[in-house]
Amino acid sequence: MRPQILFPLFAEVATLKGVGPRTLPLVQKLAGPLVRDVLFLGPVGVIARRHTKAADAIEGEVGIFDVIVDRMIVPGRPGAPLKVRASDDTGFVHLIWFGGSPPHIDRQLPRGERRLVSGKVERFNGEVQIVHPDWIVPLDKGEEIPAIEPVYPATAGLTSRVVRKLAQGALALAPDPAEWQDPAWIEKRRWPGWHAALQALHGPTGEADLSPDSPARERLAYDELLAHQLALARRRRARRITPAPVIRPGALSDALQTALPFTLTGAQGRALEEIRGDLASGEQMGRLLQGDVGSGKTAVAALAMADAAGAGFQAALMAPTEILARQHFQRLGPLLEAAGAPTILLTGRDTPAERRERLGALASGAARIAIGTHALFQDAVRFDRLALAVIDEQHRFGVGERARLQAKGDPRIGGVHLLTMSATPIPRTLELTQYGELEVSRLTEKPPGRTPVATAVLPLARIGEVAGRLKAAVEAGAQAYWICPLVAESEVSDLAAAEERAVALREGLGIEVGLAHGQMPGAEREAVMADFADGRLPVLVATTVVEVGVDVPNATIMVIEHADRFGLAQLHQLRGRVGRGAKTSACILLYGGADGGLGDTARERLETLRRTEDGFEIAEEDFRLRGGGDPLGLRQSGFPAYRFADPVRHRGLMLAAADDARLVLGRDPDLTSERGQAVQVLEALFDWKAGKSGLD
Ligand code: ADP
Ligand code: MG
Repeated sequence: MRPQILFPLFAEVATLKGVGPRTLPLVQKLAGPLVRDVLFLGPVGVIARRHTKAADAIEGEVGIFDVIVDRMIVPGRPGAPLKVRASDDTGFVHLIWFGGSPPHIDRQLPRGERRLVSGKVERFNGEVQIVHPDWIVPLDKGEEIPAIEPVYPATAGLTSRVVRKLAQGALALAPDPAEWQDPAWIEKRRWPGWHAALQALHGPTGEADLSPDSPARERLAYDELLAHQLALARRRRARRITPAPVIRPGALSDALQTALPFTLTGAQGRALEEIRGDLASGEQMGRLLQGDVGSGKTAVAALAMADAAGAGFQAALMAPTEILARQHFQRLGPLLEAAGAPTILLTGRDTPAERRERLGALASGAARIAIGTHALFQDAVRFDRLALAVIDEQHRFGVGERARLQAKGDPRIGGVHLLTMSATPIPRTLELTQYGELEVSRLTEKPPGRTPVATAVLPLARIGEVAGRLKAAVEAGAQAYWICPLVAESEVSDLAAAEERAVALREGLGIEVGLAHGQMPGAEREAVMADFADGRLPVLVATTVVEVGVDVPNATIMVIEHADRFGLAQLHQLRGRVGRGAKTSACILLYGGADGGLGDTARERLETLRRTEDGFEIAEEDFRLRGGGDPLGLRQSGFPAYRFADPVRHRGLMLAAADDARLVLGRDPDLTSERGQAVQVLEALFDWKAGKSGLD
């Protein structure tokens, strides 16, 4: 399948001239297994050399000296350096080696001969000295010393100079294929062609050429982004050509919509329209519904499920925890039933009799909608006509788990439409890489009537004051979350801190305090959380386990200890647990440890939270402040490792590449046109695979 023109680049690195048995593993480790990988390994620095005289040489510069060799001083004791004294007509140039071999150096620098030597200038007693000169050549080989020399990443046993030779070898093998980028783009950005861009990559003329914003590197970054987006878009297309049941909204959905105690927000309405477009298309839907905590994703999903039920099919809603599944069932079940869709709950805690009855109802089709946990995709579960799978808090499920639920469909009626939901707003650029395979609907607007959460940023030293205010609020009937520090090094100390805090609040304030943490057995933890949800516990001390989905409208206070140790997105999610009812809510971010200090970036991060409650804005800001290092910890969860592209600096390029990929495929789905063919070469060149590339 790989275009022939790329064969030389997909050869093993062992085929490159200069790679021997000793260097092979080093090259493979540094660059990768293929010639292409060496070709894509760009220099990380440049050395600029200048012809100079001993008297004029400036400390720190890299000079080229035209000298006569004077004498060699062989070290008298082990460990002492080997020295060669040389000179030009303005002074001495001392060349120094630690551990050099005298015969070898003697051969390079015969006494009385004229040589060009180059290296970094140091001054010792006013005289020029060069430790380990990097060039020594006779006068007539002077052009071998590059005026500008790229510096490559190197490892022990593999010098930058050797890598440079290999890169030049790879460059010589690089074809000059037909242009795959839009010529208008190329012209507008003043980008070089692909081959010229690679030449420029390996032949920088100064520091500016190393910048990710240099025309050559920018172009290569765009190539890379476009290749990735194309791979994702093709996956999307492959999914879409799987036939799936045609579902149109009907009386059942209308009944549900009328029964809802509110009217949909504009954003909910738009998302629903997008989903309905997919469901009616006859192609399998793969859509992510993204919306901040509390943005009302459930209602949108419920209406889509009602569509499926009304059209004679079944739908399933899967949540990551029992408490969440129950909450969905309690809220949606009666509404769905009343609208005409028999609904069951399936969790790991059903009695055998309940389970038998519910499984029977699903298999016979008597139940139209199933709400549940992981219990939904177990082998014993059979659906009659499953047409829509909704996954709430999708990041809590593995790819395999989502697939297992989807696999419960019946091939005779077609593929199961997939709607996943996420409450983690992520920047658009990351969305494109993480979820590039899915269509995305965003709920950018919250239901009306929410009271903004008053957010305060306070030093930990004022914790006593905060506890005092908490006591007063609890006595007045309020409920509060108290989130304990994340201690990165150990879950144990994480836990100890939460336990200690719970005891301190219980004893110090004389109020009831529950404790929930990640190491409790699931059932025990959910019981505590249920007590809190039902108002039996006024205060819940927790590690970050409350992050997911629970809705306790009466909880109006959120205290977060060591807020500076959390990611912004996580803080935002935690804060989203309050401000869900009519009463005013408060979020108190306590920062600093023993020293009480807070760095500038940390302060700016917490300030962002104080300023806005818009999850998307917070996500973008978090991304910017982290400089793309490991935004939102996504690197482990499938964030692609780009060679040229930097998702922060090339944000605009990424958006353009995503559009471009859609455009190219939209015009020429089978890539048969001239550009289509060229684009296939591009895609093959980068060869995105599943795994760490958002392709799963
Ligand atoms: P999330 O997106 O976090 O899953 P939910 O679906 O749980 O949010 O909705 C949060 C709350 O907002 C629920 O109590 C729900 O009933 C309410 N809600 C949803 N949509 C609207 C709306 N359009 N108008 C008013 N309240 C709404
Ligand atoms: Mg939800």
